[in-house]
Amino acid sequence: MVWAVVSALTVPVTAAHVGIFALITTLAITQTEVSRRLERQRRSLAKGPHVNMISVWLLPAGVLLPAQLIAVLSVTLYVYLAFRSWSGTRPGEAHRVAANITTATLSACAAGLTLLAFPSLTVLSVCAAALVHFTVNTALTGLGLYLANPEEATVESCLGNMDDNLLELATLCVGGLLVMVLSQEPLLSVLVILPLYVLQRSVLIKRLEELATTDQKTQLLNATTWQDGAMREVSRAERENGSFGALMIDLDHFKSINDTFGHLAGDDVLKAVAAVVKQETRAHDLVGRFGGEEFVALLPSTSKADAIVTAERIRQRISELVIPTHTNEGAAVEISQRTASIGVASFPADGTSVDEVMASADAAVYAAKHGGRNRVIGAESSVPELAAA
Ligand code: GH3
Ligand code: MG
Ligand code: MG
Repeated sequence: MVWAVVSALTVPVTAAHVGIFALITTLAITQTEVSRRLERQRRSLAKGPHVNMISVWLLPAGVLLPAQLIAVLSVTLYVYLAFRSWSGTRPGEAHRVAANITTATLSACAAGLTLLAFPSLTVLSVCAAALVHFTVNTALTGLGLYLANPEEATVESCLGNMDDNLLELATLCVGGLLVMVLSQEPLLSVLVILPLYVLQRSVLIKRLEELATTDQKTQLLNATTWQDGAMREVSRAERENGSFGALMIDLDHFKSINDTFGHLAGDDVLKAVAAVVKQETRAHDLVGRFGGEEFVALLPSTSKADAIVTAERIRQRISELVIPTHTNEGAAVEISQRTASIGVASFPADGTSVDEVMASADAAVYAAKHGGRNRVIGAESSVPELAAA
């Protein structure tokens, strides 16, 4: 705002500025209308900070227009988006829109200030402006999201994941090209509408794919996707004469958590256990949620003995979990001393297909339950039992 005031006093708005402003605004509103349905879907399915791709217009505005027109453009575009594409999708919209307008205006003004260090528009100056826009926008958005909910904030929830950041960078690349087009051949900028629409659509498709393959409660692979991955692993192991280990993890007396504290508390336990299984396995291991309170992990190129060591680590971590949660009535509780029974089987020793290996692991879980729970058992008990309560 300070910059807007200072600039309003020092940089007069010329007819050329107004022409570019009108063109950018028209293009942005056309783009909003063209991709309205896509944008609504993308926003309702977003899990982290929503990258709305408005930077494609604000970077050129930042570089080519004085601050007061940048501020007017931000307000116009965000208010328009809020009414046309986002209406009714989330609570607290007015605050969010105000924060977005401030962030967008400051990021674009910062990009514009970068140009003061360069004598003219060149590859270097436009790239530098885009980089400054990205940095300021990410920092301000991240700070806002952190302050909105400091307790539950994570790096990803504030700064977005790799895909979110790549999308923002891709948006700024198009914005950088638009700077050059607007300053050389303004009407050619109409050509940006279709590529932007396709970019938005491909991002939505990727998100839909993610939703179709992930268990939404735990963020692990869902059963179908895990099964597909496991079948590919069988083919690979057959081809390479290799092996893999498989874990079937079943929480002990899970029903009693639901009965005592309610289903939402039960869900928090499932999330905490899923996080433990993910942390205790490698990035390329296949970790999935098989059913209600059953998890599976396939460990490529791992012997049964090594898989049992991993299973034992997971069992130990689960037994040490302290999970803060709430009862259905809203009372805060901590759930601890929960345990799991884990069956371990391997390919090809315990089966030569996914179903056979998992049937062996399941039989081992059954044996662990009968042995008193809170233990790891290798399939067919060919490997000695490791841990007991
Ligand atoms: P055991 O030690 O023999 O495995 O006993 P258990 O209570 O864990 O097993 P059982 O199969 O009797 O109960 C599983 C429970 O898991 C029953 C079901 O209500 C609950 N459940 C399944 N899916 C979910 C879910 O997504 N959230 C919650 N909170 N509970 C679930
Ligand atoms: Mg079960
Ligand atoms: Mg169970």
